[in-house]
Amino acid sequence: MKLPHLDWVNQDSPYLRQHQSGFRSLSFDEELEQAFKRYHANVFLRRMRWALLVAMVLALVFVVLDAFNLPDPLRGQVLGLRLGLMQPILLLAWLATFRPGLRDYLQLIGGLVALLCGLAVAGVIGLARYHAFPLPYEGIILVTVFFYFLTGLRFATAVLCGWVTFVVYVCVELSVGFAGEILISNALFLLLANVIGSVGCYSLEYSTRQNFLAQGLLQDLAEKDFLTGLLNRRAFTERAELCWRQAQREKHAVGVVMMDVDFFKRYNDHYGHAAGDEALRQVAKVIGEHARRPLDCTARYGGEEFVGIWYNLTEEQLSGILESIRAGVEALSLSHVGSDAAKVVTLSLGMAYLKPQPHNSVEDALRLADVALYLAKEQGRNRVVVKKQAS
Ligand code: GH3
Ligand code: MG
Ligand code: MG
Repeated sequence: MKLPHLDWVNQDSPYLRQHQSGFRSLSFDEELEQAFKRYHANVFLRRMRWALLVAMVLALVFVVLDAFNLPDPLRGQVLGLRLGLMQPILLLAWLATFRPGLRDYLQLIGGLVALLCGLAVAGVIGLARYHAFPLPYEGIILVTVFFYFLTGLRFATAVLCGWVTFVVYVCVELSVGFAGEILISNALFLLLANVIGSVGCYSLEYSTRQNFLAQGLLQDLAEKDFLTGLLNRRAFTERAELCWRQAQREKHAVGVVMMDVDFFKRYNDHYGHAAGDEALRQVAKVIGEHARRPLDCTARYGGEEFVGIWYNLTEEQLSGILESIRAGVEALSLSHVGSDAAKVVTLSLGMAYLKPQPHNSVEDALRLADVALYLAKEQGRNRVVVKKQAS
């Protein structure tokens, strides 16, 4: 299984890197693995919910059948297992699927339910054997297949539950003295059900991981600038809007910043376009490292211009961050003989510092930041100029 031709993708993306390095062992690098677990839980949430509901109904059907068919005292013991153990845990797990706070634990909960149901069915078979009642053993195959394919358990969990159930079933049969050819045949069928379930579950999870990588890569392609890896202008506009609205609700200030590399045309003319690209990458890296909180974001606005928004910091804190960006770019020490501002590549920054109001917008803030940037250029470049909202 392969994602279709990705040779044309020249974007640095963790999703692409993972795709290229492979994931046959069904695991990603740490950060992606965490994101995948959340993705998987969301994708399979509805399936798990429905599967648990169906399992409860099926288990109830067996309760009715057993109530009519089984002799005493076997009936009481089997109904005790079905109603006292299986139904409550299925119900509890089903309720858990509605609690967003338990989303991270659904695999664990689903695994425990699968295991307990498997063990309970093995127990029912063992009790029937003990009382010499000819109860068909196929119920355990049904449970095994059900939990492999219908509940959205990941491979590792499903395999663990399936094979533990298999071993327990064989032990139960042996412990009640049920041996010989029929046990061998029963065990063989259950073993094959586990093999089929394991292979099917592996390929299901592999495809789910592929989909996750494909979606992530598509998102990176849509949102990130391929040269610098920062967000692109379109994605910035969306994120900035979110940050702006949050600040408006919480009555916090934001800093909207325009940044522009000084005398960059001359840099290109002197060092060539490829060197210019590399310089832009390094400048972008410095800028990106200064916006790590969830609502802050930086982006390449176009050409050699960058943009950023920072949430709920004092003017002094923000000025400090911008000064650190300016100094960081200068410290790259990228020689720039054509610059009138310094001997190295430098950056001018203009910040609009303001509290979002109903009558102003991100675009207004960007215009104000542009005015500040223009002043920074006029005052000699390689500096930070702050403009506050006129009240
Ligand atoms: P100023 O200090 O006033 O900003 O001067 P400047 O030369 O930087 O300004 P100008 O806007 O005239 O020039 C921008 C230059 O940036 C023009 C173009 O050669 C260069 N540029 C824009 N995008 C890219 C890019 O993706 N790669 C490279 N290498 N250069 C780019
Ligand atoms: Mg410039
Ligand atoms: Mg420019």
